[in-house]
Amino acid sequence: MLFEEVVRAYEKIESTASRLEMRDMLADLFSGASCDELKTIVYLTTGRLCPEFVDMEFGVADKQILKAIYEATRVDMGHLEALYRKTGDLGAVAAMVLMEKKQSSLFTESLTVEGLRAALEELSKKSGKGSQQYKSRTLAGLFHSASPVEAKYLARILVGKMRIGVAVMTILDALTVVFAGDENRQAVERAYNITSDIGLVAEILCTKGVEALKDLRVQVGHPLKAMLAERLGDIGDIMQKMGGRAAFEYKYDGLRMQVHIDKGAPEGGKIKMFSRQLEDLTPQFPELHHWILNAFEEEKGIIEGECVPVDITTGEFLPFQVISRRRGRKYGLDGAIEEFPVKLVLFDVLLSGDKEMIDLPFPERRKELERVIGPNERVDLSTILITDNTDEAQSFFMEALASGCEGLMTKSLADDSVYRAGNRGWIWIKYKKEYRSEMVDTVDLVVVGAFAGKGRRADTYGALLMASYNPEENRYETVCKLGSGFDDSHLSLLPEMLKPYLQKAKDRRVESIMEADYWFSPGLVLEIIGAEITHSPAHTCARDVLKEGAGLSIRFPRFTGRFRDDKGPEDATTSQEIVQIYRAQLKKT
Ligand code: AMP
Repeated sequence: MLFEEVVRAYEKIESTASRLEMRDMLADLFSGASCDELKTIVYLTTGRLCPEFVDMEFGVADKQILKAIYEATRVDMGHLEALYRKTGDLGAVAAMVLMEKKQSSLFTESLTVEGLRAALEELSKKSGKGSQQYKSRTLAGLFHSASPVEAKYLARILVGKMRIGVAVMTILDALTVVFAGDENRQAVERAYNITSDIGLVAEILCTKGVEALKDLRVQVGHPLKAMLAERLGDIGDIMQKMGGRAAFEYKYDGLRMQVHIDKGAPEGGKIKMFSRQLEDLTPQFPELHHWILNAFEEEKGIIEGECVPVDITTGEFLPFQVISRRRGRKYGLDGAIEEFPVKLVLFDVLLSGDKEMIDLPFPERRKELERVIGPNERVDLSTILITDNTDEAQSFFMEALASGCEGLMTKSLADDSVYRAGNRGWIWIKYKKEYRSEMVDTVDLVVVGAFAGKGRRADTYGALLMASYNPEENRYETVCKLGSGFDDSHLSLLPEMLKPYLQKAKDRRVESIMEADYWFSPGLVLEIIGAEITHSPAHTCARDVLKEGAGLSIRFPRFTGRFRDDKGPEDATTSQEIVQIYRAQLKKT
């Protein structure tokens, strides 16, 4: 099939806003193609040459495309750039100048769909020395032999923006019309949702028919579209919606991760990780790979969870922003792995060995998840509570907030609580308070220990161990590790200021679970502000008072810049006051 035929259809599609018309135009186009061509056309219609989860780039910048248009037309570069600035669409620029130039000349050889695919594939494979020259030459050749309309879509394909307004669902509609019939529309959509590969769906429909498509199974390496949740703002309403009984899970604030495991694959290919947007996260979190392989009991499978930043020493969850500092890193990954450690908290299993799990109700999937996962240092299971009691669910919500989670994710236990890939429904309902309690007041805490600094802080301390005062027991109880809010001058002052208090071992009045690198007798008081107060197993402030085995801790503590040298250590904020701040905070939520 000629590329010209495809772009003529695109032109028509671009000029309509009706989804039905688009569907019919696409159906016309699809029915004239061979199965190989169809696969390519379907991908091209989405502005790609492969499924969304495959990271394939042509590696050409806008400037390079303009240059190729220049090579093909010899229209002044300044003029091309001006046109691009005006339209913001390289496709429009290509079409306009080729139109002007080619009125008098004959088009050279025609471009076929398969010829275009081969050329683009070649382009994407080239990298390294000489590749830019190769790309420029190939692009110039392509634009040279393209008609104005072909050039328009060629440029748009190269930048991945088709601008014809066709949604994936419309492509599925058109495929249904041509190959499956309306009664099979759901089967077509399901196949897409469990493979995220519209080209594969088209290929199977074309080569084997709709019955073969129905046999398509969840496969390692093919990410499923994520199941989504509805939201409600009242736990009573949620309980009612769920039929009076439900599973409540902590809602972790991190990065959703679908992990594909194949222990039999060659080294380096045993784990694949996908984001909710199907981005390949595998190279970004290499330190999790062996923990996952160790935790998972079967030979292969697909599990889903949230990748959350944690403080390794305290086990506390850190805010989502921390993980974003690791995203997309190509350089300095080793440093980032150490600086921003993460944990994978699992909440679902979609394939376990050869058992496809998605059509089983949630309780069965959870049971299988608990069977197949042996939690370890970096892999855990989501905290869950199954209840029909609204008050119990409400206190579980408070606990979730106190542990640094966003709220709860409620999951139906009903027979129809299957994993609905790519669908939002009342099977999952999220419950989060948008309002996050904040510490309005500052607290004054005592420096009782310090941790060695690294890198820029090699000459000073990396973080200080801070404590509140417990007058009843005459004890200093740790509340947080403080590393932010210090400017360079503070940092260089610290060793000198703390020198008078330095001692070989922990002061006997200091209660600490953490092992600091340096210990101080309680003396220096600093003013601190934090985001909120939460339970923490790593700190001793009011330990066991509110929760067995946990103390209170300040999340994201920051030095305000005020050294409270007007205060002695016994004038510092007391542990009892920290309890009061914590309680006031809960009332606000
Ligand atoms: P939202 O991003 O607010 O729409 O909430 C949905 C997201 O919550 C999911 O995509 C997951 O990334 C995340 N999440 C966190 N904890 C859970 C959990 N226990 N079960 C399901 N999703 C969760």
